[in-house]
This record gives sequence, C-alpha cells and structure tokens, in this order.
Amino acid sequence: MTREQPKSSQLQRWDHYINGASHAPASGNYIDAFDPCAGAAVDQVAAGSAADVDLAVRAAAAAAAAWRDRRPIERGRIMLAIAAKIREKAAHIAAIESRQTGKPAWQSPLEVEVAAQYFEFYGGLANLFHGEVIGLGAGYHSYTTREPFGVVGVITPWNAPINQAARGIAPALAAGNTVVAKPSEFTSASTVELARLACEECGLPPGVFNVVLGEGEACGAALVSHPLVRKVAFTGSVRAGRAISHIAAERLIPLTLELGGKSPNIIFDDADLKQAIPGAVRAFSGNAGQVCLAGSRLLVQTSVHGQVVEALAAAVAAVKVGPQSDAMVGPITTRAQYDRVRSYFEIARQDGARAIVGGNLDARDEWNAGWFVPPTVYAGVTNDMRIAREEIFGPVLVVIPFADEAEAIRIANDTEYGLAAGIWTQNLSRAHRVAAALEAGQIYVNEYQAGGVETPLGGYKNSGYGREKGIEALHHYTQLKCVTIKL
Ligand code: NAD
Repeated sequence: MTREQPKSSQLQRWDHYINGASHAPASGNYIDAFDPCAGAAVDQVAAGSAADVDLAVRAAAAAAAAWRDRRPIERGRIMLAIAAKIREKAAHIAAIESRQTGKPAWQSPLEVEVAAQYFEFYGGLANLFHGEVIGLGAGYHSYTTREPFGVVGVITPWNAPINQAARGIAPALAAGNTVVAKPSEFTSASTVELARLACEECGLPPGVFNVVLGEGEACGAALVSHPLVRKVAFTGSVRAGRAISHIAAERLIPLTLELGGKSPNIIFDDADLKQAIPGAVRAFSGNAGQVCLAGSRLLVQTSVHGQVVEALAAAVAAVKVGPQSDAMVGPITTRAQYDRVRSYFEIARQDGARAIVGGNLDARDEWNAGWFVPPTVYAGVTNDMRIAREEIFGPVLVVIPFADEAEAIRIANDTEYGLAAGIWTQNLSRAHRVAAALEAGQIYVNEYQAGGVETPLGGYKNSGYGREKGIEALHHYTQLKCVTIKL
C-alpha cells in the first residue's frame, strides 16, 4: 500500500504562529516537507528568518510579565486544559505527525499521549515548585525563590516532534516563562498545531507560546542569538549543539543540550533471554532507530553469544517494515538521513563486519520511492569499527561479545557518548554494580527505555548537559534568587 501523492496545488501551508495568530514568513519563502512513506512533498513550511524570529521573541517578551505574575495554580489549570485538549484531538494531531514523519498509524497516538502527559505532569507541579527558608539563627530571615528567565527558546529535531516540543515547552511554561519554539523544518506541523490549540482553545494568552519555522542556521541560530532570549533548550545533533553552545557562551545564557548517543545494551549470561531478546530488538529498531536513546550497541556475554545472535536474527527478520498502518518499523524521516543510514552498509563492509540480517541496498525496490531501511544487525563487530562508534540514527545494530563484567563495562564506556545504557541480568547485585559503573545519564535494567515523563533525562560526555523531564527540568527553567533580611 503506497499513500496517494498530492499534486503541488494541494500542498498544505504551515506558517509561523506568533502572538496567537498565523504569520506568513517575511521572506515569502517556503520549504517543502515530505511524506517519507512516498518520498513526495505533501506540505510547505515557512522559511523563517531573523525578522520572523524577532517578531516572535518580542511577542513572547511582551507577554512575559503577565504570565510570570499569574498565580501558579492558574498557570497549572491552563496547562491541564492543554493536556485534556491534546487527548481530545489526539487522532487529529497524530495524523498531522504521521504525515510528515511517516510514523506508522499506531505509533503517533502513543507519542501524542506522552505530549499530553508532559502538560499534565508540569501543570500539576506548577504550584508545587517553590523556594525554601534557610536557617541563619536569630536576627536574620533568609529565603529563596525560583523565578522564570523570561523568554525561553526551545529547538527540537524531527524524530519525535510533538513529544520533544511538549517536553521542553511544558516545564518552561509551568515555571512562568514564555516560549518561542523552533521545530525541525522537516516536521514542523504538529508543534504549530499544539500552539494553536493551546492559545485558541485552552485559554493560553497570546504571545506566551509562539512557534517560528525554518532552517537551523537561518532561524534556529537567530533565536539563540536574540538578545531577549534568556535561556535555550536544544535537542538535536552534536554538530548543531556545538554551534549553538558557542552562541550561548558568547551571550552568557544557560543552555540545556540533549544530543545524540551510541548506547550500549548489555546482555549477561544470567539474563532472562525471553525478555532480553525482544527487548533488544525494540531498543534498536523502534521508530526505525531514529531515537537518541536507541540501544544501538548490543554487548553479549560470550557464553550466550551464539544463542543470542541466532535468536536475534530470527526475531529481526520477522519485524514488519513498510507504509502499512500495522508495520512495526516505518520509514526514515528525511531523505538525507535515509542516504546517510544506507551509507553505513558500505562502511560496515569495508570494516569487515558481517550482516546477519539486512544491510542490503537493493531492499529499496520493495517500497518504491519510500525511505525504508529494514532493520539490520551486524555481528563480528569490534568496538573500534565506525559502525560501533558513530551514531547512525537508523535501525542498525552492532553485536559485540564480552567475556566478563569488567570487559562489558570497559566496552560500554568506550564511547564519546553517554546518553543511556541497558543491563539485562537476574542478579540484583550485578545490576547495581554495573549501573554505578556505567557513564550514562539513563540506565535501564531489564526493560530498555523504561521510565516516563517523571524520570529525568540527559547525557554524560558528548550526549549533552542539563536535564529534561521530571522535577529536575524545572530547575533548568528557573533561576534561583536568595533574599536575606537582617531583622
Ligand atoms: P539537528 O541538530 O540537525 O537539528 C535539530 C534542530 O536544530 C532542528 O530544529 C534544526 O533546524 C536546528 N538546527 C540545526 N542547526 C542549527 C544551528 N546551527 N543553529 C540553531 N539551530 C540549528 O538534528 P536532527 O537531525 O534534527 O536530529 C537528530 C539528532 O538529534 C540526533 O543526533 C539525535 O541523537 C538527536 N536527538 C537527541 C535527543 C535527546 O533527547 N538527547 C532526542 C532526539 C534526537
């Protein structure tokens, strides 16, 4: 089943959303957005520039004082209304999301539900996050308050657009900031729709949540550079994170960076393999591997290596790939990323790795023009090969054997990244020992990517700094003031 391709006159246009209304780009230019299942343009997205960013940031700055001064319980009430609205419109938002990302029809509603949970969680916390009284003995009264920065910029990638937008925007708003969001130019639509629903149907005042659309260097960099933006939350590649961090350093504004990963998923010989093997398949192939947290390096103890590789090959070969609504693995979301993922097949071959499933460039013919990559597993991999070191951001797994716990930890930590790690074992002491030794911000034991909106997320090493999600995120969206009075 291939989706019908629209004629160019049917391309839907998405404009900026600024101060409670749609705004065409000052340049008059638009960028095509594609249906990755068909490899065809379906939408047009405003090509924003510094002039559009300036309009949005000024609107956010003008709305900042009134939003900050609202009673927190009222901010929370609006956010809970947004959560309810996201759930009410879930099918509509999910359809918009699948159209530009290619996600299978069952998958987008799950991500839309998580977006609702971010507004629910932070809406509930809006009145519970405050400062404290600090004892200085008689004669003094000292207390802290947690104050918003003002205008916060939230820049997000294309792999889970509505989810990542909500992850940054909800805590920023709960803490009393106003927001200018810049979604990926490839998948802008769901963030615009979220802003529209929040402002027009949930009582969020105009200017509190704005969205500018466009490319990273023209629009994202202009947002980070704008003098009225006081904090930035960025999710995306190491390359762009580094570029943004230079601007933020120059401006001396705080930045949260959620970057890439090459996360180890470790199967010990005492693991329950009935859980570990399907868990390992989901960990690398979910969302077609376009997940920063993906468990893309599978470390397997030598005593069970043969058994695991055999079962893994059978499980991966059975994964349904394609544009069908019940496929487990959909397409790669951008054409450039599709070409990049497939380029690793040749790199793996040159490195001497052996594909036990997938890795076949001819597979393309099966899906016409769609950007599908079948899940691919390489065995015979050493941790120094490029396919073991570089983030591929596609459904490609490398399997690396290890002899004992010490070697597993050494290989797991031998990476420039430090976002996540999985441990499969039935030995509780080992689980804690290894969790303590791994250099990563998220450790999952016996379920990869366990957790929810409540659990903090962030990286060690090149995977970034600062934390999103959980109560922890609110620290990053507020600045602490300490008041001390001599009585
Ligand atoms: P990307 O860095 O190319 O783009 C991310 C966003 O930044 C987009 O909105 C883009 O327009 C913007 N951007 C790009 N260059 C910019 C610049 N110079 N200045 C300002 N903005 C700029 O990343 P991508 O290809 O969209 O996403 C894939 C990457 O995101 C992967 O590396 C993945 O691991 C990472 N990611 C991380 C997390 C996390 O939470 N740690 C989550 C999802 C994705």
